[in-house]
Amino acid sequence: MTPKPFGPIPAEFRDLDALPWLSEATPAYVYDFGVVSARIARLRAALPARVAVHYAIKANPLPALLKAIAPLVDGLDVASAGEMDRALDVMAAGTISFAGPGKRDAEIELAIRAGVTLNVESENEGRRALAIGEMLGMRPKLAVRVNPDFELRGSGMKMGGRASPFGVEAKHVAGLVKRLIIGGAEWRGLHIFAGSQSLDTQAVIETQAATVLLAARIAEEARRAPPLVNLGGGFGIPYFPGDVALDVEAIGAALAGELDKLDTHYAIELGRWLIGEAGVYLARVIDRKVSQGETFLILDGGLNHHLAATGNFGTVVRRNYPVAVAHRMQDPPEEIVTIVGPLCTPLDRLADRVSLPKADVGDVIAIFASGAYGASASPSAFLGHPPARELLVGTGDA
Ligand SMILES: *Cc1c(COP(=O)(O)O)cnc(C)c1O
Repeated sequence: MTPKPFGPIPAEFRDLDALPWLSEATPAYVYDFGVVSARIARLRAALPARVAVHYAIKANPLPALLKAIAPLVDGLDVASAGEMDRALDVMAAGTISFAGPGKRDAEIELAIRAGVTLNVESENEGRRALAIGEMLGMRPKLAVRVNPDFELRGSGMKMGGRASPFGVEAKHVAGLVKRLIIGGAEWRGLHIFAGSQSLDTQAVIETQAATVLLAARIAEEARRAPPLVNLGGGFGIPYFPGDVALDVEAIGAALAGELDKLDTHYAIELGRWLIGEAGVYLARVIDRKVSQGETFLILDGGLNHHLAATGNFGTVVRRNYPVAVAHRMQDPPEEIVTIVGPLCTPLDRLADRVSLPKADVGDVIAIFASGAYGASASPSAFLGHPPARELLVGTGDA
């Protein structure tokens, strides 16, 4: 049997066995905040100083993480009233923005009352926000989310250049901006998000340039400069064999040459790139068995905790996340195993035919690059197993 490859283990975790939290009870996610703060520092150094950095909290909304990250970023982007509540616990309303289609009236009201910026996703939503503002006697802060007429090439999830539930078609944005302003809104600017999980540095550079141009075109049509242009993000991280990290220094250098096309404040919003590589999912081997010559390791958690690693969250072809046997990181591979969770479904497969040191019952398996779209993006109620613990380490709080 030939093994299948798995993705690259982030450099920070190649010495996993030396880390003190490894013996914590499983199943668990551990997020190392030292990795997050190093990413933010690198990004700040790479980007032009006038580009604000926002954290899109849907990537990982753990309250302890939000508390730690809030002082290091310039804004939080949320997509529900639940996320907005968590964001307001750690940051002032003026630097929180609320995107997402299908905002309920109650959510719009909460945002306007709190002073959070609503990224308006449709004509209809704009009308509702104005009406609710009028009812409250408050001036809503409204930005317009644009459905761009291009997409982020090479992104795992394309969110532009096509029919979409997100945002307002580029050619209708200027008209809507005028109507919102006439209707009494404080116009906060434009939000343009063209895709997610791109590892193509050149594609990110081209998309950012096109985004600035589109914002400038809309500003001209609307005859007003937007106070803020949120350029989106879409920075990917390596998950799979052959994946190569983005060159954020090249992205920052290229962006610096574009910004003067429009006199405004800029932001980018990132989730995965800030937190994804900082997280490790740990689960324990409950059973080993051989079936028709294939060895299976059965863990105390799987798809119910980590849907993405099983290939069931936005991937077309299932591939192996970076994986290791904890406490045996430096040992040579000894056997080919398929690693599954405890659920009664063949979808619950965390690693397919990987070559690893031998793991016995009781050993811990680590799945890396698990900090984003992990616990909160998995069906934890499915089959009734306990949820994974979530632990933030490396904040310096001890
Ligand atoms: C999901 C999302 C993000 C974050 O995407 P990442 O790939 O995690 O960086 C940012 N902005 C919007 C509008 C989103 O929907």
